[in-house]
Amino acid sequence: MEQFINTKIVYTPTEEDLQEAATLLTAGKLVAIPTETVYGLGVNALLPEAPPKVYAAKGRPSDNPLIIHLADANEADRYAVTCATYHKLASAFMPGPLTVILPKRNCIPDSVTGGLATVAVRVPSHPIAHRLIELCGFPVAAPSANLSGRPSTTTVEHVIEDMNGRVDMILNGGASDIGLESTIVLPKADGSLVLLRPGAITVEMLEEEGFSVMLDKAVTERLQAGEQPLAPGMKYRHYAPHARVILLSGERGAVQAAMEPFRDRTDTALVCYADDPIANAANACILGAFDRRDEQARNLFDLLRSFDSRPEITHICAPLPDRKGIGLALFNRMLKAAGYDIEEV
Ligand code: AMP
Ligand code: MG
Repeated sequence: MEQFINTKIVYTPTEEDLQEAATLLTAGKLVAIPTETVYGLGVNALLPEAPPKVYAAKGRPSDNPLIIHLADANEADRYAVTCATYHKLASAFMPGPLTVILPKRNCIPDSVTGGLATVAVRVPSHPIAHRLIELCGFPVAAPSANLSGRPSTTTVEHVIEDMNGRVDMILNGGASDIGLESTIVLPKADGSLVLLRPGAITVEMLEEEGFSVMLDKAVTERLQAGEQPLAPGMKYRHYAPHARVILLSGERGAVQAAMEPFRDRTDTALVCYADDPIANAANACILGAFDRRDEQARNLFDLLRSFDSRPEITHICAPLPDRKGIGLALFNRMLKAAGYDIEEV
């Protein structure tokens, strides 16, 4: 990185601090913002010269577009061409962890969308994110506030680790409530949805609202050379710790049995559920209770990041999550962390 920025870290943001953050964003500066999904690296979405700074700070490929964040779902019409499906989604799930892909209007610069004709829109519910965007009065473009290739950040400590010296301000908002990035959907002309990235707004929740949902192939499978996912970011191997991650697929008991020979080994971490028999091993790392997928989602990135500070660990064994509810999002993130390396047991 060419230049070291003096980063202001605000641990308990007041209204005045948020005013200062809004002033920085207005001027095209970078502010890391807590949201209910993961921390975001915010920038003014209406200044064409601002988004490239985000790509530089993250080391992110510039063909991977940013999500614009609004204070109110009804503002989307100013920046995108909305449709009945958008409004139906908005009334059910916004503010919240849902991103909708819409045709963009000209006021959104190409530097936000990586040259795409569409723009991704979300309305975060976290009170700090919401108030800051409201004070700005313009959409805030933000990818996750992590170095490209590292797991997304879900605590201010993670953000400081990756972004101190690279951004102008970091706002603390506590640990992210959800811990996984937003669900991304693409509305089709017939009112159905393509799910580009699974998240806390689950397929079941969308179906409950009457939507028919099709999964983009990149959600569950490795794409072949030449195949393009609908969300450009899905082609990158995100979330990957330095150690090799091996996903064990099978009955819960069979997964336990497969881990047993690796019990207490110092070079191998065993990711397990709190109520697994293997959870008492010296090298066990608890993801959460077996039937608490929300807890597992909240802990996943913190756990994956923690392995990077333990160079003695060369292998990580983890159970392949089932695909129910937010399980599909866990499945997708763990599949990517493992580079699609699954072992049937
Ligand atoms: P991040 O902000 O790091 O969670 O990444 C944003 C995600 O949204 C990436 O996977 C992008 O590829 C996806 N995305 C953003 N804009 C669009 C768009 N216009 N069409 C499809 N996917 C998008
Ligand atoms: Mg990201």
